[in-house]
Amino acid sequence: MRIDLHTHTTASDGSDTPAGLVRKAERLGLLAVAITDHDTVDGLEEALAAGEAASAAQAGQAAVPVAVIPGIELTTDTATCEVHVLGLYLRHPHPPLLARLDAIREERIARARAMVQKLQQLGVPLEWETVWETASTRGFIGRSQIFRAMKEQRLIPPGRGREAFDYYFSKGGAAYVPHSYLDPEEAIELILGAGGVPVLAHPGRLVAGTASGDDLVKELTEKGLMGLEVYYPTHSAGETAHFLQLAERLGLIPTGGTDYHGRFGAAGVALGSYSPPASTLPRLREAAASLRRIHGGE
Ligand code: AMP
Ligand code: MN
Ligand code: MN
Ligand code: MN
Repeated sequence: MRIDLHTHTTASDGSDTPAGLVRKAERLGLLAVAITDHDTVDGLEEALAAGEAASAAQAGQAAVPVAVIPGIELTTDTATCEVHVLGLYLRHPHPPLLARLDAIREERIARARAMVQKLQQLGVPLEWETVWETASTRGFIGRSQIFRAMKEQRLIPPGRGREAFDYYFSKGGAAYVPHSYLDPEEAIELILGAGGVPVLAHPGRLVAGTASGDDLVKELTEKGLMGLEVYYPTHSAGETAHFLQLAERLGLIPTGGTDYHGRFGAAGVALGSYSPPASTLPRLREAAASLRRIHGGE
C-alpha cells in the first residue's frame, strides 16, 4: 500500500485544492496522504474534512479510505544551505502554532518585497503590486509568486526559465534574500510544540549528500529531529541507500514523499510514487503519541 508524506496544495504553491488533492489520493487508492504546505496550515481544515467525507462514503465497504495526515513544511536557512523541516501529525488547530505562522507570513511578505526591490535595482521593471495581485494566495508569498509574475510580465526570455530562476533566486543569487526569521532548531521546536513529528525534508538537496550534510542531520537529531525523508524524487539509488543507513544509525524514522505540486511541480511525478514502506505509518503515529504523553493532552 502506497503513502505520500509530502504534498503541496493551493494553500501554498501547489495547483490542486486541498479537497481535490485528497480526492486524487483516494482515487489512486493511497493508504495515507500528508498535506505539507510551505509555512502554512491554511489548507488543513479543508483537507481533513475531505478525508472525513471519504471515510463516511466508504463506511461498510471493503476499501480502506485514505488517511489524511495534518502536516507542514517549514522553510529555514543556515549560513550554507536551505533546510526544510516537515512536521507530520500536527495538532490542528493549535493556537500557538497559528500565532507563530501569522508572524512568519508577515516576515515572508517583507522578504518578498526586499527581493522585488533587489530586482528593481538590477533594472527589472517589476512592481510589488503586480506580484501581490497575481499571487494565488496571500498565505504564502515568495520566490515562486515573484517568478510567476515575472513570467506573466514577459520579463523572462522564453525557454530560459530554469536559468533565470537560478540566476536571480538560487541561494546567493542576484535577487535572493534568505529566510532569516527561522532557523532549523526553532522549526523543530515549533513542530514538537504542536505535537508533530519533525522530519528533515530532502536531505539530498542539503549539500548534496556531503559529509557536512550528514553532520547537520546528526546535529538536528540532537535537537529533536525524529525522521528523515529517505524516499524522494531527486534522490539517486545511492543516496536513498545512504540516507536509509543514516536514518538507521541515528534512530530516525525513514519517510518519503513526492513533494507533489500538481501542474506547478516536476513533470511526471505521480502522487504516491516515492512511498516509504507501510511500517513507517505506525512508527510515526507512535512517535506522535509519545509526544502527546510528554506534552500532555493539549
Ligand atoms: P521561497 O520559500 O519563497 O524561498 O520559495 C521557494 C519555492 O520556490 C519552492 O517551494 C519552489 O516551489 C519554488 N522553486 C524552487 N526552485 C524553483 C525553480 N527552479 N523554478 C521554479 N520554482 C522554483
Ligand atoms: Mn514549493
Ligand atoms: Mn522543500
Ligand atoms: Mn515541499
